[in-house]
Amino acid sequence: MRYISTRGQSPALPFCDILLGGLAPDGGLYLPESYPRIGPAELDTWRSLSYADLAFAILSRFIDDIPPGDLKALCDKTYRAEVYCHARAGDNPEAITPLHWLEPGRLALVELSNGPTLAFKDMAMQLLGNLFEYVLDQRGEEINILGATSGDTGSAAEYAMRGKHGVRVFMLSPHGLMSPFQRAQMYSLQDPNIYNIAVQGMFDDAQDVVKAVSNDAEFKARYKIGAVNSINWARVAAQIVYYFKAYLAATTSSDQQVAFAVPSGNFGNICAGHIARMMGLPIDRLVCATNENDVLDEFFRTGVYRPRKTAETYATSSPSMDISKASNFERFVFDLVGRDATVVRALWSKVDGGGAFDLRGTPHWDRLAEFAFVSGRSSHADRLATIRDTWSRHGVMVDTHTADGLKVAREQLADGIPMLVLETALPAKFEATIREALGRDPERPADLAHIESLPQRCEVMAADTVAIKAYLAREIEGRR
Ligand SMILES: *Cc1c(COP(=O)(O)O)cnc(C)c1O
Repeated sequence: MRYISTRGQSPALPFCDILLGGLAPDGGLYLPESYPRIGPAELDTWRSLSYADLAFAILSRFIDDIPPGDLKALCDKTYRAEVYCHARAGDNPEAITPLHWLEPGRLALVELSNGPTLAFKDMAMQLLGNLFEYVLDQRGEEINILGATSGDTGSAAEYAMRGKHGVRVFMLSPHGLMSPFQRAQMYSLQDPNIYNIAVQGMFDDAQDVVKAVSNDAEFKARYKIGAVNSINWARVAAQIVYYFKAYLAATTSSDQQVAFAVPSGNFGNICAGHIARMMGLPIDRLVCATNENDVLDEFFRTGVYRPRKTAETYATSSPSMDISKASNFERFVFDLVGRDATVVRALWSKVDGGGAFDLRGTPHWDRLAEFAFVSGRSSHADRLATIRDTWSRHGVMVDTHTADGLKVAREQLADGIPMLVLETALPAKFEATIREALGRDPERPADLAHIESLPQRCEVMAADTVAIKAYLAREIEGRR
């Protein structure tokens, strides 16, 4: 299996050659040359597989340059009940991503947030950590991951990469602006390969430093600087697995259909659902839920894709969906336009120049119905109402992002087709909004009860690219 770019001007490469990189050299995103097809008979043989075995069955269709025995060992090491240990009392932790029915046969949560940082990003990031270590060991190479975070992605990356050989993580976060819980999650890590840098400024200031460092090609090459952002293909691939797992848990035979509702930001999570559907998984509809930052909802309603300016992006109570543009969306559009890279290049020449595109009146827009997407949007008031309603009716506490998914899912319920809502974080991560909705603190997993009192370690620095580069150089070269 080789990987091609959505812009069509980069050579096709095997999996391990695109694993550690980001964008393709032509500025596009990598996708497999073709999607493997899974028929109903084969799907039925997967019903009894454990999560790790199912991950191997699916990923081995996408990865043929790691020997099967090694890939199997990586899946077994990643998808263990001890790693995904935060399931609700009563749910089966062996399932890794248990289904939690709110209305039996009709509406369920897919628990994806039982990993170390209580968000769905752990599902893919934990595999990425093990894949990185494996490939770097094989090649005798190392990588220094540089990123900026306002919370979820940074902590998921640190928990995935801690203690891995060949990998250092330098994570910039806005000093004093994360919640005490998020700060404790990241800064209490004592692994010598994890470096937290608290930048005096806002998230955007931290992000600007990362961009400035990444734009210095010489520095980047010399210090082997890389990233683990949401466009990484391996993250999307790992996310395909739980769509299959949830489908198999919700059905008894492979002629049944289900729908998925996905709280969306950068379109990575729901893009994996789209690929699962292209592989033959019987998905009736994919429901794309956004918050007030409704770039994606606007597209699915009108055909207009109009990324916002940073100043037009709202800070909401579902912050991990606060995006101005959806970085994985190009993958979906590549399929929508019949995999014609010339069309993608023309559309993104508008987007990259700060503009928008409009597919209304084109044959591509007429084909959208074949791709089974619908969408909706949720506001702060909707979020609070959904959290209250789910708590009072079902005794289940959901986080703010999952609430956005649930709100839009309820608008799209159809008779006879179970609606599976992806739970993208646990409420413990978003205490303030839970208090606002319910007048009480969220439940917190017992092993994290006192995380704020653990010793913390971080470097406080000005948002100064020169100083931060000097710090990176010093740490990477082992000078003190
Ligand atoms: C990252 C994230 C999302 C958005 O996922 P995308 O793949 O970017 O669409 C939603 N909810 C939570 C809690 C997240 O951390």
